[in-house]
Amino acid sequence: MVADLWLQMLSVKEAETLIFNAVRPLDDTETVDLANAGDRVLAANITSDLDFPHWDNSAMDGYAVRFEDVKTASETHPITLRVTAEIPAGTAPKTAIAPGEAARIFTGSMLPEGTDTIVMQENTKKEGDRVSILIPPPQAGAFVRRRGDYYQAGNLLLEKGTKLGSAEVAVLAAARVTKVPVFRKPRVAILSTGSELVTPDRPLEPGQIVDSNQYALATFVKKIGCEPVPLGIVSDTPEALKAAIENAIASADVVLSSGGVSVGDYDWVDRILAELGGNILVRSVAMKPGKPLTIATFSSPQTLYFGLPGNPVSALATCWRFVRSSLLKLSGVASGWQPVFVTAKTRSPLKSNGKRETYFWGQLYLVDGSYEFDLARGDRSSGNLINLAGTNGLAVLPVGETAIAAGETVSVLPMS
Ligand code: AMP
Ligand code: MG
Repeated sequence: MVADLWLQMLSVKEAETLIFNAVRPLDDTETVDLANAGDRVLAANITSDLDFPHWDNSAMDGYAVRFEDVKTASETHPITLRVTAEIPAGTAPKTAIAPGEAARIFTGSMLPEGTDTIVMQENTKKEGDRVSILIPPPQAGAFVRRRGDYYQAGNLLLEKGTKLGSAEVAVLAAARVTKVPVFRKPRVAILSTGSELVTPDRPLEPGQIVDSNQYALATFVKKIGCEPVPLGIVSDTPEALKAAIENAIASADVVLSSGGVSVGDYDWVDRILAELGGNILVRSVAMKPGKPLTIATFSSPQTLYFGLPGNPVSALATCWRFVRSSLLKLSGVASGWQPVFVTAKTRSPLKSNGKRETYFWGQLYLVDGSYEFDLARGDRSSGNLINLAGTNGLAVLPVGETAIAAGETVSVLPMS
């Protein structure tokens, strides 16, 4: 019965808990070349049989010495050593260094046997095959990077569930991991519902609206590291919608449809989801923009369905608030997938009627280490997608709060 579907309006927190708990991380894995591992999620713990550094090496250009030999050196009483070896980076020392001797060494070069300390080039004077030490190094072991100082072979190097950015890829490369186990990218179907919608390349007839959500959502999904599956526009007829939604559910791990979830005469999405056997978790959230928001789960195949509001601003705000974290968790990201709010001083007064959690889009600035929030200029209706461009944060006024004055602090969800 349709009436049974009318769940109460949930708070943002309640909706968030229901949604995030419903997300089961994918466990399908695949192997990719290191060059393609960026932005993927590691599907196994990585250990290395190499120590880092691999061997004791110099942190400076200078001379490898025995600390005992040089510890009393001074500019008035320099200590002179015989330079018996030169060790360019990339070569192994051929001979050990005896007392009274030194080796010319460069940053990254291996320390020769017998030496324990580096004297910086700036604190020496070279004459023929002799070097005078003018200032002693501060202690034994100075300017030496010891084997295993950064990482010891066999320990955990990178943890399963790590999102691979440039630093993590560098670590994989250094550990000679050329084939990287990663989780499969979630497939996210994108469906725009509305008989008024046309693609951007078509002539625009009176009353029609360009389907901008298709592009906004695909960009959003890609940025999170998922694979968008663009399914285009479907008109507001129950037959067409049912076929399109059924196909979307079958072809992706997540469906993002936009439009058709409010209580207008042509809003069929919720009914169809129920008819198709969906478990409807959320129908309406006390959030502005974004109140009509339908979330359903399907069990075979396992699919998470987000019926987003059609308004471009509402669709994107609900994406930032709920979809982003859901996709990250689904991708296998072990930690840090939850939304993180920052505290910012608002430059503009923020007003709401206090009835729903209200989201304001604007620019987040970092000024002398503190965040400041500047409300987007112009009309703040959720139908205005123009002033959403250039914004990078959503400031939040909780239920019950009706105003925040300029200069006061507010929580902001960064959109980046
Ligand atoms: P709905 O949620 O279907 O009632 O749509 C709310 C508003 O958003 C209407 O003005 C729609 O024309 C507009 N809208 C719906 N879908 C899209 C879309 N894919 N792209 C741009 N605007 C849309
Ligand atoms: Mg519609």
